[in-house]
Amino acid sequence: MAAIVTRFPPSPTGYLHIGGARTAIFNWLYARRHGGKFILRIEDTDLVRSTEASVKAILDAMEWLELDWDEGPFYQTERLEVYQEYLEKLVAGGHAYYCDCDPEDLDRRRQAAMAAGGKPKYDGRCRDRGLGPGPNRVVRFRCPLAGETVLNDLIKGPIVFNNAELDDLVLQKSDGIPTYNFAVVIDDVTMGINLIIRGDDHVNNTPRQILIYQALGAPLPRFAHVPMILGEDRARLSKRHGATSVMVYKEMGFLPEALVNYLVRLGWSHGDQEIFSREEMIANFSLEHIGKAAGVFNPDKLLWLNAHYLKERDPAALVPLLRPFLHQRGYSERPDDYLARAIATLQPRCQTLVEMADAIRYYLVDEVDYDPAAAAKFLRPETLSTIARMQAVLADLDPFDEARMEQAFRSVAEELGVKLGKIAQPVRVALTGVTASPGLFEVIDVLGRKTVLERLGKALDFIKAQARS
Ligand code: GLU
Repeated sequence: MAAIVTRFPPSPTGYLHIGGARTAIFNWLYARRHGGKFILRIEDTDLVRSTEASVKAILDAMEWLELDWDEGPFYQTERLEVYQEYLEKLVAGGHAYYCDCDPEDLDRRRQAAMAAGGKPKYDGRCRDRGLGPGPNRVVRFRCPLAGETVLNDLIKGPIVFNNAELDDLVLQKSDGIPTYNFAVVIDDVTMGINLIIRGDDHVNNTPRQILIYQALGAPLPRFAHVPMILGEDRARLSKRHGATSVMVYKEMGFLPEALVNYLVRLGWSHGDQEIFSREEMIANFSLEHIGKAAGVFNPDKLLWLNAHYLKERDPAALVPLLRPFLHQRGYSERPDDYLARAIATLQPRCQTLVEMADAIRYYLVDEVDYDPAAAAKFLRPETLSTIARMQAVLADLDPFDEARMEQAFRSVAEELGVKLGKIAQPVRVALTGVTASPGLFEVIDVLGRKTVLERLGKALDFIKAQARS
C-alpha cells in the first residue's frame, strides 16, 4: 500500500475550533502512526471571510498543540492555475459546462419548482448549450442524472446517495474562484491524499466530491467521517457551552498535552485508558476505535487532565509557561530557580496555570495582604507571643531547612503546651495571608529566612496596631 498521506485543511475564517483541532490531531496521529505524511492546507477561497489574522491564529494553535506538518501550509488562493487546468480538463471531457443563468432568475425558477412540488436543484438549462468562458459565467459539474454514489465510510459504513438528488454544483464561480467541493478534490488529488478524516458535517459533500474524482479518473481516497462534538445538552458544541477556541484554552492556563489528550479521547478509545503520552497515542491510534456516537464535551474532565499534567511537568519547565500569567498580574521579576521552587509547592494544588498564577502571589509580593477573615481569626493578641517566639527560633535556626524547621515548631508547641496547629496557623497567615497553603515548612523553605522574619515582624506590628485601635 502507498505511504499514508493525510491532511488538515482549515478555512481561515476564525480561530481554530476545538472540533477542528481534534480533526487535525486524528489526521496527524494517523500519519505518525503509519510513518506517513501530514499536510497542512489553508482553504482561503472565501475571499470575504478569510483573514490573515485567522491564518496566524490557526498556525499558532497548531504549533501550540505541537502538531507538526510535513508539507505546507499550502494556500488555495496561490493555486488558482492548478484548479483552472483541471477545470478545463473537465469541460473538455464533457464533465462540466459553462452556465450564464442569472442568479435572480435562477432563484425564481427554484422557487417555482418548489411551489410545484419539485426539488430546489439547478434545472439544467445550460447543460447542453455548449457555452464557452465569458463574463458572469460559472462552471457547473455535469452530475449523472441517474444511478447511485456510494460512500464507503470507514466509521459510518456504506452510505448510498441517489445521483438524482445531487445538484449540478458550481465548480468555479463567475469571478474565477473555485468552490470548496472542487478545490478540495483537486488539492486532495494533486497532493496525493489517500485518507481523509474530517467532521461528519461534510458527509453530504462527499458524494459530490466522489463524482468529481470519478470524472477525473482519479483514485478515491479513503474517507472517515468523525461525529461532531456536542455540548452537555447534546446540541452541537458552541460558545454557549464555554470556550471553543484552542488558544482561549491556552489563555485559561491549560497545557497543550492536556487538551490533546482530552480531544483524542473524546471520540477515540483504547480500552479504558484515559491518560496517554504522545508516544502511546501514536502507537495505539486506529480508526476502528473511533466511536460512532458523538462525544460530549466535559469541561471537568479536561480540568482533571490538566491538573494531572500540571503535576507531572518538571517545575522548571513550567516557569516559562507561567511567566506570561505573572506579567499580566504585574508581579515583580524573580529568577527561574526561585519560581521553580515556588511552583513545586503549588503543583499538587492547582488545576490550571491561571490558578497557579493567583496562588503564587504570596511568594512574589513584597508585602502580603491578609485575608480579613484569616487575620481576624489568627492574627490577634493571643497569638502575639507564639509568633514572636517562632520569629526568635527561626532567626537562629541552623541549618534553615525543612527537617530542622519541623523540630523547631514541635519544640515550641511542647514548650507552650499547645498543638502544632495552634502555632502553624498564625504563622501561615503571617507568611501567606491565607489559611490554606502548601505545607508550611515548604513555604518557609521557599521564602527563605529573611522574608520569613520580615513577614513575622510585620504580623506582630499588625497585631499591635489592631490592639491599639
Ligand atoms: N475547509 C474545510 C473545513 O474547514 C475542509 C473540509 C475537509 O476536510 O474537506 O471545513
